[in-house]
Amino acid sequence: MMLEKYDFHCHSTASDGALSPTELVRRAHQQGVTTLALTDHDTTAGLPEATQTAAECGMRLIPGIELSATYANQCLHIVGLNIDAANPLLVEGLVKQQSLRDQRAIKIAEKLEKKGIQGVYQAVTKAAGNGEITRSHFADFLLAQGHVSTQQEAFDRYLSKGKPAFVATQWAALEDVISWIRAAGGIAVLAHPLRYNLSHKWMNRALIDFKQFGGQGVEVVTGRASVDDIRLSWQLAHKHQLYASVGSDFHTPENQWVELGRLAALPDGVQPVWSLLPTLQ
Ligand code: AMP
Ligand code: MN
Ligand code: MN
Ligand code: MN
Repeated sequence: MMLEKYDFHCHSTASDGALSPTELVRRAHQQGVTTLALTDHDTTAGLPEATQTAAECGMRLIPGIELSATYANQCLHIVGLNIDAANPLLVEGLVKQQSLRDQRAIKIAEKLEKKGIQGVYQAVTKAAGNGEITRSHFADFLLAQGHVSTQQEAFDRYLSKGKPAFVATQWAALEDVISWIRAAGGIAVLAHPLRYNLSHKWMNRALIDFKQFGGQGVEVVTGRASVDDIRLSWQLAHKHQLYASVGSDFHTPENQWVELGRLAALPDGVQPVWSLLPTLQ
């Protein structure tokens, strides 16, 4: 029996990943991944190329996405797995999300220019190319121009909530984002649950609502998760009876801590999200 290796969260140049869909799929294949979900921020543009390359490699590609959602004034990331990218409701939703991204990019650039940092908008649009502009593109620019010495510092000093170049964005409501994923035949998964710094009370509220809206899964194993992180996320899946997902959130080969398919084993006692996927003939 072939040993399966799953990775259900990663990014290509269609959003803030460093590798093209083809390069990403080839790398995943080399790393022994047997089923990969490409989950770019608010876009499905990388999926046709990824699907084609995966077929060439003999690897399974799950069409996916990572949607930005608003819930109780917070931005949550919802991974959609096994979506039909042609679904009209999803397509319509993505047009709005992408226009929010464009409008936000202009405002972030203006804020940075007020801080005396020039040429921001031109640089990030060039770097993003045909892909979605994300805050990572701004962080890379600030790093390249020597304003900060790490990407993390760009977030800590400029781009995070409460910092001078942060622009609050009203992404689509959690309920709507989940309904697009469901309309497209997909599985909605709460990405990296520990990264929102929600209190226990709020996390539980969020997951109750998430499930009520049609959400089905939560990421239990992520790229840099510690044993404690995995235990906490496992408890959330177990308590709320959600399917457990696994995903590296790979963005770039330059981050030596995160690799495609390099994930801790999913602990027993929760249902893996891949049990919801149709079996291949
Ligand atoms: P956006 O969806 O455009 O707001 O960008 C979010 C992306 O920025 C995330 O998916 C990460 O790739 C990156 N990001 C967010 N916060 C941080 C952080 N503190 N350090 C490094 N990267 C971050
Ligand atoms: Mn990202
Ligand atoms: Mn995310
Ligand atoms: Mn991600």
